[in-house]
Amino acid sequence: MAIGPVRSATLAPTIGGAWRCYPDPMASQGSDPTPEFSRPAEREAAVGSSPSPATTVDLDDLDLACGVMHDATNLAVAARRDLPRDAIVDKSDGSVVTAVDVALQVYILTRLEEVFGAVPTIAEEDLGSIRGKPAAEAHCRRLLAEWGYDGGEAGIHRALSSGGLDGSTRDVAFAWVLDPIDGTQGFVDGDHWCPCLALLRRGEVVFAANGHPTVRGGALLTAVKDGGTWWYPLAGGEFERAEVSQEPLRVGESVRLVAPARATESQMRARAAVGCSTGHPCTLVHSDSQAKYAHVIAGLADVAYSRRGGGPGKYVWDHAGAILLAREAGAWVGDTDGGDIDLSLGRRLGGNRAVICTARSLGPAVARELAARDVAEGFTPAGGAGR
Ligand SMILES: [Mg+2]
Repeated sequence: MAIGPVRSATLAPTIGGAWRCYPDPMASQGSDPTPEFSRPAEREAAVGSSPSPATTVDLDDLDLACGVMHDATNLAVAARRDLPRDAIVDKSDGSVVTAVDVALQVYILTRLEEVFGAVPTIAEEDLGSIRGKPAAEAHCRRLLAEWGYDGGEAGIHRALSSGGLDGSTRDVAFAWVLDPIDGTQGFVDGDHWCPCLALLRRGEVVFAANGHPTVRGGALLTAVKDGGTWWYPLAGGEFERAEVSQEPLRVGESVRLVAPARATESQMRARAAVGCSTGHPCTLVHSDSQAKYAHVIAGLADVAYSRRGGGPGKYVWDHAGAILLAREAGAWVGDTDGGDIDLSLGRRLGGNRAVICTARSLGPAVARELAARDVAEGFTPAGGAGR
């Protein structure tokens, strides 16, 4: 099975040769920038201890994964311009999904497999996502054909069956975490959305590539652990390092806090109150999906968070990549107790109360406020995170 290099007028200019997910570190740094997980000895160890030699990962391979996400985001941007109403359907859980979500998952996982082999995967979509919706299924096939996919029905079936990894990933050498479109409602509404890919190594995120068509004019945001976070324009161009401001807010300066598009009045008031609890006036900034974290990384907001509330925990694919991207850019990321976010528990963040991402040294204050609200609202400690 092969998906050749995608070429269409809707795509970004071809990136010459093997492009990197950040500028060549060997050219810009004096020390060996190769992450620990990509050293040859480590690769050999990974092969020996994992179920498949496909779990061998190195920097050059990750660059190819960045290229996959760059292409995928541009394909989704084009597909969104011509999205039939009957290609938008409701899932059994009440959320919305489109033929583009499913086609993009097939496209991304197929191209990743060409490079990495059969790496264990946690992905949002599956065979049931648009099953029984003939118009959506037909549009999915049309998109895949346009994108050069030639894996047939067997390949589609395999790609949509392969993302069901669940349970602890602490003993899994490498695992992809994929949300082909985070924020599908925003994708439909013309709001924020983003294709999101992360790589876990024994349950810890070591690589991320999120496509952000609605941030900074359209950019891919990438990071390798200990390698910094980098913007790359979706239309092609130059890399730019992402750096989150550490400068505390001045007296009287507003804290910019992210609120979702469909928030109710009371939810908006609650968000504003959390912002004001930092001792500053609060301005709400609208964003959803992992784009809310990208707003902090881009300097467009100071605080973004997602609370668990009384639910079973947020999905790992809605947060994993952004956690690395934000941290590598210098943001504060943590839970309401200031602890880490445990990404190793499978499909949900069952061990955490919230994911909080802030710039400008606001993290501890926001965490304290959200912890107090959890107590006031009767939410029990998450527990079980091993933190
Ligand atoms: Mg999604």
